[in-house]
Amino acid sequence: MTDKINILLANPRGFCAGVDRAIQIVEEALIQYGKPIYVRHEVVHNQYVINDLKTKGAVFIEDLNDVPKGAHVIFSAHGISKAIREEAKLRELIPIDATCPLVTKVHVEVNKMLNQGMDIVMVGHKGHPEVEGTMGQIEKHQSNRKMYLIETVEDIKSLIVDRPDKLAYVTQTTLSIDDTKIIIDTLKIKYPNIQGPKSDDICYATQNRQDAVKQISGLCDLIIIVGSNNSSNSNRLKELALREGVESYMIDHEDLLQSSWLINKKNIGISAGASAPEISVKNIVNKIESLTKASITELPGIEESIIFKLPKI
Ligand code: SF4
Repeated sequence: MTDKINILLANPRGFCAGVDRAIQIVEEALIQYGKPIYVRHEVVHNQYVINDLKTKGAVFIEDLNDVPKGAHVIFSAHGISKAIREEAKLRELIPIDATCPLVTKVHVEVNKMLNQGMDIVMVGHKGHPEVEGTMGQIEKHQSNRKMYLIETVEDIKSLIVDRPDKLAYVTQTTLSIDDTKIIIDTLKIKYPNIQGPKSDDICYATQNRQDAVKQISGLCDLIIIVGSNNSSNSNRLKELALREGVESYMIDHEDLLQSSWLINKKNIGISAGASAPEISVKNIVNKIESLTKASITELPGIEESIIFKLPKI
């Protein structure tokens, strides 16, 4: 191990406005209605947050059949399909929607595009709940409309659409900025008339955290991303650091930090995905300090002032 390690904390990092809001919604519902409060899917993709909410009385379920009739159910920040919304209604559940307003914005776009007679290519990760929710904006009576999901440039080669001149695209909010640009450019070459959303679907938090990691990459010989395995935007940060040629690991608990990572390192960058709480960053910094001498520097970065209002609960 080197004599002293410099820890460089990227900014901005950690919680975004959508995650903050979703957690507050669960906490507020627990105060107002008592426990248990049912939440469909992990409200945000972070193990620390989920465990904390579980101890406070939140019950996370995947199947609405596991919620007693007439109970409140919170929909996660990732958004839901129209079918899930309908299913909750049929089961007489009382919905509380923690969908991030920036995901809702994409849903609104999709609905507008479908109503304008467009078919839609969605760029996103198969199986991610946000993608399921956005793809699920198409309704049964819109059987003459189509949504196609692609993940990579390679997928565009094999993509066959019915109406290339009536085509629009949207993206998941937490994708890699660089990869998505290449995918959209390639889509535009194959489908010159394809229409895009008015403003980017990739959200401000994803953009800012990726910019910050790019910035610190040139300064670091190791980057640790704080985030859970199922967090899309945390994974993108780790990929970005690796792509910039920096050794990088993603962990969501200090016990997962391996002392061997620190050997011969001088400058360690730390950032956190939009769903990772600052306490996890602190715990990881403390763990490094317990293993070696370290100095800590908060790097400058864009200040985020976005706050989303809570819905009526
Ligand atoms: Fe909303 Fe972006 Fe945060 Fe997702 S990462 S919850 S889209 S602000």
